[in-house]
Amino acid sequence: MHPGMAAVIAIGSDEILDTVDRWLPLFSLVFIALLVYVMFRMLAVMPRTKPQEIKASKRSGVGWEDIAGVEATKDELREVVDFLSDPRRFKTLGAKVPKGILLHGPPGTGKTMLAKAVAHESGANFFSQSASSFVEMFAGLGAARIRRLFKEAREHAPAILFIDELDAVGTARGSDVSGERDQTLNQLLVEMDGFEASESIVVMAASNMLEKLDPALLRPGRFDRQVFVPPPDLRGREQILAVHTRDKPLSQDIDLGRVARHTSGLTGADLANLCNEAAIQAGRNNRSFIAQSDFDNAFERVVAGLQSRKVITDHEKRVVAWHEAGHALVSELLPTVDNVQKVSIVPRGKALGYTLNLPEEDRYLKSRHELIDYMKVLLAGRVAEQIRFGRVTTGASDDLAKVTAIARSMVYEYGMGTSIRSHQVPANDWNVSEMMRQRRDEEVNEIAEEAYRGAHRLLSDHRDLLDEIANRLLDDEVIERYEIVAIMAGRSASDPRPPAVVRSAADGE
Ligand code: ADP
Repeated sequence: MHPGMAAVIAIGSDEILDTVDRWLPLFSLVFIALLVYVMFRMLAVMPRTKPQEIKASKRSGVGWEDIAGVEATKDELREVVDFLSDPRRFKTLGAKVPKGILLHGPPGTGKTMLAKAVAHESGANFFSQSASSFVEMFAGLGAARIRRLFKEAREHAPAILFIDELDAVGTARGSDVSGERDQTLNQLLVEMDGFEASESIVVMAASNMLEKLDPALLRPGRFDRQVFVPPPDLRGREQILAVHTRDKPLSQDIDLGRVARHTSGLTGADLANLCNEAAIQAGRNNRSFIAQSDFDNAFERVVAGLQSRKVITDHEKRVVAWHEAGHALVSELLPTVDNVQKVSIVPRGKALGYTLNLPEEDRYLKSRHELIDYMKVLLAGRVAEQIRFGRVTTGASDDLAKVTAIARSMVYEYGMGTSIRSHQVPANDWNVSEMMRQRRDEEVNEIAEEAYRGAHRLLSDHRDLLDEIANRLLDDEVIERYEIVAIMAGRSASDPRPPAVVRSAADGE
């Protein structure tokens, strides 16, 4: 190395060291200030997980009397109230009380209210958090919130821990790119597995979409008790209207029964809104009481605000009543078809009504005769509309699709068509002659028509019963098995005596 170069380097590094010495404290200060600033910014956007965020109240303020029209659901939940009020009684008996209860049903049907009422009635603490607030932008924060919520509940047992909008974290795992939701859900499962059924804590959750939830959530020891909270029927709507008008001055002319009849399809939340709107209308008109006209005006406003939701017109209600009565009556008339447990014209999901058939015993194999009977039941809705109104609506499209599918299977798969040869060639075999194809289609049609004629005959022969069931549905919106049995036996449906004859009118079709 050149001797001069060593001197240059020596001088250079001295200067550098000097400069560093002079500026280092300043640099460090700026760096620390920057760090503090960034941390403050992060803390500002970071959702706080302080205990006060978790809503807890010794008395949640909502009692059974504030919730109307969901009697069956309340009955199911009374058991939880009993347990939380006196856990020792159950523990000494070795009884296992559900750890997790999932309330599911359309929004606004009173799920949150029910959870609050369980806490209130049993004197338990109420901890509530919406699952959507668990899913945060910082990975791991949702899981931390879940841990905190459970910890709080444990420290304040007896407690109801309520998770609203469970769908936000509970939908099937694997569909979340960031993994944050999955991590949160896993933490929820861990916490639910981690506490004992004897701990005087009951986890309740609300969901609008039970079918989309991760099946792991519904396993035993987690949300193994699922309670449906239905939209209210006619009587339920009237009771809800009574609850929401009990501290409002009403004029003499108000008929809440009439309001209830015109609000088919509305939930408890909609009805609460309706009552409030009616009070506002009365206030605007400078009246000191609410008149029927206020309800009529409020109804228009509330319905207009519901754009996407269906409010059923009177005519539609009649069509649905005869449609469902048709299904129910033909089911009852045919001994091969399962009993009708319930018929309803309260809209539920996309359906405007439904007839619930429940088997008395498990049946696996069906004969041609049984399949045709089942098709008669499916077609009976459409046939009843035809008989009563002289035309059919689009409401039967689902039933028709099912009938066609069954008739096709009968011809193509089960060899139940008129010519046995037709099922020997697969449906999608292109070598099948055009003639054969036509023959099969004719057979499918013949079977469907046979069922249609059968349904038509049954309903025409028992027109009085059809009208009676439909009218009953129009009056009450829901009819139960014992009422159907009474109608079939020719007794008044309100007569609670046990039936002597269940299918007296069966005509052996
Ligand atoms: P969900 O949790 O099912 O969405 P909420 O319990 O939050 O419904 O109900 C919202 C509001 O609607 C309640 O605060 C109450 O005013 C009203 N409401 C809903 N269902 C009922 C009911 N069955 N009885 C009385 N009020 C109801």
